[in-house]
Amino acid sequence: MHFDVIILGSGPGGYVASIRSAQLGMKTAIVEKNELGGISLNWGCIPTKSILNSAKLLQDIKKNIKLFGINNNFDIYIDKIFIKSRNTVNTIKKRIYYLLKKNGVNVIYGEGKLKKGKKIEVLYKNKIKIFSASNIIIATGATPKIDKELYDGKSIITYKEALSLSFIPKTMIIIGTDSIGLEFSYFYNCMGSKIILIEASSLVLPNEDEDISIYIKSYIEKTGVLVYTSSVIDKVFKKNKKVFVQFYIKNNPDKKITLESDILLYSIGVSPNIKNIGLKKIGINVNNGYIVVDKNYKTNINGFYAIGDVINTISLSHVAFHEGINCIENIKGLNCQNIDYNNIPKCIYSFPEIASVGITEKEAIKKGFKLKISKFPLSFLDRSICDDYTDGFIKLIFDEKYDEWLGCHMIGNKVSDLISEVVIARKLETTSEEILNSVHPYPSLSESILEAIFLYCGKSIHYINKKS
Ligand SMILES: Cc1cc2nc3c(=O)[nH]c(=O)nc-3n(C[C@H](O)[C@H](O)[C@H](O)COP(=O)(O)OP(=O)(O)OC[C@H]3O[C@@H](n4cnc5c(N)ncnc54)[C@H](O)[C@@H]3O)c2cc1C
Repeated sequence: MHFDVIILGSGPGGYVASIRSAQLGMKTAIVEKNELGGISLNWGCIPTKSILNSAKLLQDIKKNIKLFGINNNFDIYIDKIFIKSRNTVNTIKKRIYYLLKKNGVNVIYGEGKLKKGKKIEVLYKNKIKIFSASNIIIATGATPKIDKELYDGKSIITYKEALSLSFIPKTMIIIGTDSIGLEFSYFYNCMGSKIILIEASSLVLPNEDEDISIYIKSYIEKTGVLVYTSSVIDKVFKKNKKVFVQFYIKNNPDKKITLESDILLYSIGVSPNIKNIGLKKIGINVNNGYIVVDKNYKTNINGFYAIGDVINTISLSHVAFHEGINCIENIKGLNCQNIDYNNIPKCIYSFPEIASVGITEKEAIKKGFKLKISKFPLSFLDRSICDDYTDGFIKLIFDEKYDEWLGCHMIGNKVSDLISEVVIARKLETTSEEILNSVHPYPSLSESILEAIFLYCGKSIHYINKKS
């Protein structure tokens, strides 16, 4: 059977591209070897946010025990928390399936392999079918990085198993403090596990603004999490159903530290799924493990495109969504705007949440900007005081010369809901004066951005302006 467009992989890149393609009148098929929705829906964004929601609820309950006279002897049923997360996944999956069907997208289950002559061979239940297409989009995503020899899926695990453990481990070591490591650290810490984080860099969340990294380390340490930074893993081994991690701190390589744990979770990033999909035979260029594309997501081979985690852009679902839409609109010949990769919001949904867009203070200095920085503490925001969550701050970085909003870095309760305002303001090249004159509701968390701008302009009412 021939299609205008076939997409390999139904994650947020693939399924969004397929809907947009069908909307534009192209005969479209999507090939999926596992479950609709990809990693994002099944093992990434969605189940993690569901379990984090349960953890935050537990935190809220514990915090308010005295207020409501709640009996302190309640139990935590981790299996039920995971069942709830699977139900959430299934609800969204049904909706995606419905949308694909309603838009006329053909869903083909099976493992796809690219073939010469713009063909895809699909293996399903030992049967092979061949499909052809005028345009083929590769959206096969990524899988977690882990030492294959150590991984057993039981005591040495990745995020997938961490989303379905049948017990609350007494101790959990997490290697890597990226967003995923931090989110699981928060979840299992709330559930009662003793968490130990081991990070190679000198900072937790090394890619965030340094103020955020320093704040979050100190915050999580106060909640009982043990954090080792600048750490180099020497060896990992198992003994008597326990996992042992031996490592040393960079400036003291002679002093080995060995820690014992029930579970070791690897959170050291992902690698693109480019193996066994036929890239080599077709001659599609790969660099550093990623498929090489141009700004329209075209590979070097005519008619083949790639989007999402298989290309070297930031690995996030909303990025994959937009790449899918842009790729399709370019195929259709619509003149769509390129994605501005400098204006992508990044959120971490542990507590306190972290949200950022643009460059960090260090990056801005490196680029030679003269900076004006404003940092507004949420402890001075009336809404945060009402909500009884006053930890964190909003940090704004502006270029002093042209008043360009270079970056925004937030940490605090629900800040993931605030960052889009900054994305839009930056997109529209809004000046600080214009934001100052945009009335925000009182009392609201969104006022924190306005308050930070007031402070930036030296006109703060609710905080003390710096004397210039
Ligand atoms: C624990 C975790 C939490 C995350 N949280 C967030 C978050 O909160 N926000 C956010 O924006 N991002 C988050 N991410 C990242 C996000 O999930 C990814 O960036 C996103 O899933 C990438 O989408 P994709 O379409 O490129 O690929 P994927 O979602 O990986 O989908 C690829 C699909 O292709 C299929 N496939 C692969 N090979 C073949 C083949 N040969 N034939 C047929 N099908 C194939 C796979 O089965 C899969 O379904 C998280 C990731 C993880 C692991």
